[in-house]
Amino acid sequence: MVPPSFEYASPKSLSEAIDLLASRGEGARVIAGGQSLIPLLKLRLASPSLLVDINRIPGLKRIEESGEFLGIGAMTPMAEVEASALIRENYPAIHDASQVIGDPLVRNLGTVGGNVSHGDPNNDMPAVMLALRAEFVATGPGGERKIRAQDFFLDTFTVALNHNEILTEIRVPRCRPRSGGCYLKLEQKVGDFATAGVAVQVRLAKGGECEEIGVGLTAVGPTAIRARKAEDWMRGRTPFERAAVQELARLAAEESNPSTDMRGTSAYKKKVVALLVSRAFGKACERAGGAS
Ligand SMILES: Cc1cc2nc3c(=O)[nH]c(=O)nc-3n(C[C@H](O)[C@H](O)[C@H](O)COP(=O)(O)OP(=O)(O)OC[C@H]3O[C@@H](n4cnc5c(N)ncnc54)[C@H](O)[C@@H]3O)c2cc1C
Repeated sequence: MVPPSFEYASPKSLSEAIDLLASRGEGARVIAGGQSLIPLLKLRLASPSLLVDINRIPGLKRIEESGEFLGIGAMTPMAEVEASALIRENYPAIHDASQVIGDPLVRNLGTVGGNVSHGDPNNDMPAVMLALRAEFVATGPGGERKIRAQDFFLDTFTVALNHNEILTEIRVPRCRPRSGGCYLKLEQKVGDFATAGVAVQVRLAKGGECEEIGVGLTAVGPTAIRARKAEDWMRGRTPFERAAVQELARLAAEESNPSTDMRGTSAYKKKVVALLVSRAFGKACERAGGAS
């Protein structure tokens, strides 16, 4: 279908883009890679009066560790995340997810910022960012504010950005010794959205027990889900305790709230969550240098 007509602006600075968004109110919308927004326009599920293209704004495409965090510019294409040796080595859950988002064409254009800002529970990066305890930097007329990933995903297609704010950076706590992560996704065919996906990030204590853990779930609720009860259960336990890991997986499945659709029944998806949590936890621990 042909999208409804809209005005188009391609500002060269962040302040210009924010001014445009502020002056046009709810009718204006940011466009980044267009991989989610263009299909919405074509299906006429969105009809903004102005598209503010942020591709020409300098400084929003970068991957760098500084101070206490890894900063990923919101406009960094998924393909650059996938190709980053720093991310592959130190933040493997992000690398895992970047490899299974759509196909290479989608990953060449689709940005990390767009993937989380879209607020689609079926997108892969939100669960990873929840597990990693990421923080999102939103820039608006009043300057920058930081939003924790756990406070960002409010509802399906609704995130905690104001209409005049642009997500400029994603900050992930810097990789520490004895930490590892993993993202696993079940898809019906290569390039498909997830039937269910699971992100696990762990940090092991010197004694081998799980000092810190993050668990994020994809496509099994109205938003990406942080499985807090599962995290609380596993903290302080060792990855060698089979019964403990089974309980971790059971609790995460209990916290999921999948709907029955063409990808499977709710009960089936809960079983998938449990299986993926158990496998992703094992892999994350292995990568952290602990048990597999
Ligand atoms: C064929 C196909 C397959 C796909 N498969 C997958 C998949 O398997 N997994 C997956 O996760 N995704 C998948 N997607 C979705 C898509 O890849 C992601 O949602 C994409 O990363 C969105 O990024 P974008 O830069 O294209 O965002 P856009 O489409 O440009 O924008 C998406 C939304 O985010 C907002 N937005 C974007 N950037 C910002 C910003 N910096 N600040 C504020 N708001 C912003 C826009 O206003 C819009 O509402 C697929 C898409 C296609 C077309």
